[in-house]
Amino acid sequence: MRRVLIVGSTGSIGTQALDVISRSDSLEVVGLAAHSNAELILEQAAAFDVDRLALADPDAAARAAARWTAGEVLAGPEGLVALITESECDLVLNALVGSAGLGPTVAALGEGIDLALANKESLVVGGELVMALAEATGAKILPVDSEHSALFQLVEAQSPGTVERLVLTASGGPFRGHEAAELEGVTREEALAHPTWDMGGKISVDSATLMNKGLELIEAHHLFGVPYDRIDVVVHPQSIVHSLIHLNDGSSLAHLGYPDMRVPISYALHYPERPDVPVETLDLAGVGELTFEAPDTGVFGCLRLAKQAAATGGTAPCVLNAANEVAVHAFLAGELRFPGIAQVIERTLEELPPGPVGHFADLLAADAQARETASMLAREGAGATRGEDQAAQAPGRTPSA
Ligand code: NDP
Repeated sequence: MRRVLIVGSTGSIGTQALDVISRSDSLEVVGLAAHSNAELILEQAAAFDVDRLALADPDAAARAAARWTAGEVLAGPEGLVALITESECDLVLNALVGSAGLGPTVAALGEGIDLALANKESLVVGGELVMALAEATGAKILPVDSEHSALFQLVEAQSPGTVERLVLTASGGPFRGHEAAELEGVTREEALAHPTWDMGGKISVDSATLMNKGLELIEAHHLFGVPYDRIDVVVHPQSIVHSLIHLNDGSSLAHLGYPDMRVPISYALHYPERPDVPVETLDLAGVGELTFEAPDTGVFGCLRLAKQAAATGGTAPCVLNAANEVAVHAFLAGELRFPGIAQVIERTLEELPPGPVGHFADLLAADAQARETASMLAREGAGATRGEDQAAQAPGRTPSA
């Protein structure tokens, strides 16, 4: 039995992981953690017979502890870290959203525990340090992101020195083909309506701005040690080809399948085994056509900004990520127009010159400073939005898929 601990169990990836585990005879859940959804995590704990939980929100942890007599509920971000370090588990699935995922990533790898990584922000923010930590302790990082799972499977089967380029596919999101002017008035609901994947709120907006592909570019660079000038992005609206590699002899290999996150989740949790997953076998004639086009970085400025921050290095990707989290949150709360997301990120990067990263403390400082600057800029953007158009989107909590 592989003993698995899930942080972010109440989200889109977390609940799909539990679905995978419920069908597996080789995986056992030994810990669950989330932010504040006490009701769902208690249901999950009862269903999977788990007695140690953690909630990052102390009030929610207290509420859960009052109702949970079958075990212990740890509180706060430090509770999530303690859950991991004291668990003696074999594998941590990090399915948290945002840079809050960095702490659990470092905790797992620092203990030498293998990590199934959905939380791409960990690598965007602290890629060099995170990969060095994994190298030092010998812990494996198993990608859960569908594109990176595809690349992992493709690259792993090749001899060293034969992979020339990596190609990340992008669906293009709900606004593919739009002109910049058409993005001015898009609503929260339109941005969340992803054409091919059913995901949590933050990543859905990241897909709509193409920031998600920028974050994935940085993730791929760190995971596979490939320089940025050998990683391409191509828009593929059908989301059937999950990524591809070009080899030294002129061949290209691709990974295909219907878009269903249970496939890469199952692969990461069971690695190197490949048990059955209840998804349909791909019917290419039924799909009909697979199309590809270049991303429009003129209209979708976030991908351009991510490439710039990646090339700059140091604290720049961390600043990019923090500014994006703040801007997406403001957009989802109805406080910022959709094009304001890229504007807030661009201005935050301009205001904060990149610094070197020697230690995780450098990243925490850069993250905090970027959040402060981006929040101020988002408020300015919000003022402009309210002045121009009162019909902004209604505020509300980010829904999970
Ligand atoms: P969701 O928003 O659906 O879920 C997020 C999870 O993280 C929830 O369990 C939430 O808890 C928890 N959480 C949020 N903030 C914190 C915090 N500060 N401290 C502790 N826990 C927190 O996200 P997704 O499942 O969509 O995405 C998770 C990660 O996986 C992201 O990095 C995303 O980019 C990546 N990913 C997701 C894919 C998808 O299909 N959804 C595909 C590929 C990658 P609570 O419910 O209590 O708020």
